[in-house]
Amino acid sequence: MSTEVAKKKIVTIGDILVGQGQPIFMGGPCTVESLPGLEPVVEALIRIRGETGLPVMLRGGVNKPRTNAESFQGLGRIGLEMLAEMRHRTGILIAIEIRGEEHIEYLRDRSLRPDLVWIGSRNGLNQDLISKVALVARETDTPIMIKRHWGATVSEWLGAAGYAEGAWGETTQAQIILCERGIRIGNLENPFSETILDLRGMWEAQIKSGWPIIVDASHSTKRRDRVETASIAALEHGADGLMVEIHSDAVNALSDNNQQISPREAIELARTIVNPDRSRMPRVDWIRYPFGN
Ligand code: PEP
Ligand code: MN
Repeated sequence: MSTEVAKKKIVTIGDILVGQGQPIFMGGPCTVESLPGLEPVVEALIRIRGETGLPVMLRGGVNKPRTNAESFQGLGRIGLEMLAEMRHRTGILIAIEIRGEEHIEYLRDRSLRPDLVWIGSRNGLNQDLISKVALVARETDTPIMIKRHWGATVSEWLGAAGYAEGAWGETTQAQIILCERGIRIGNLENPFSETILDLRGMWEAQIKSGWPIIVDASHSTKRRDRVETASIAALEHGADGLMVEIHSDAVNALSDNNQQISPREAIELARTIVNPDRSRMPRVDWIRYPFGN
């Protein structure tokens, strides 16, 4: 039996330590649509931090990787300016996806620079992009989060993160976070049509790499009525944080309108996760389950 357990690493985002025990709560719209739309989301996040003590961050898509060309593609730099404006007003830390090489320049702009950047699932096996973004992330002292490609095995996911790690070299600890966002499975009628949250894979990646892992409870479930259960399950299984899509008018959101939750629901979710009903979901002590061979 081989059980490679890597030393757990802690990643610093501004004043937030990820992987030190207290989960981070990262929430925000699938796509940034307007400044007034962000305000209630940020108010909810700040309230969550105040009530629960959880560290919070604002996420928002600005250059969206959309399946269809006619879908809303995001506001680009203007969307990032809106996130930066919310940071300026409230001090909240911000995170965006870097979808292509042309967006790496956001990291070079001091006033706009996000506090965390992530590589989205579609690019989760785009090793060239990962290397290029990671180089600038290291130069600008910005942590990078690698979302799992929805078709990637755990070793392919860790392999992709290894390309980011290379940017930091051997002597400095790379500032990498992993994100489990659901993988595609199928059934006989509908091959590859279903997404499942792979908590076993999350655990394996966490144990083998030592990187903190955040679970995206929205894209992994695709339904707002599943977000709470997925969030509790993820944390009970040792996730280092959550990513949740929150929108001020979720039903009318321009993207992912069936999975985003309202600011009020986000506050309720945060209250629940810090005080979950454990009788509903017994904790699994994964460390007792060795890897196979
Ligand atoms: C996102 O988080 O905005 C997103 C598009 O998710 P994913 O890359 O996991 O599909
Ligand atoms: Mn989305």
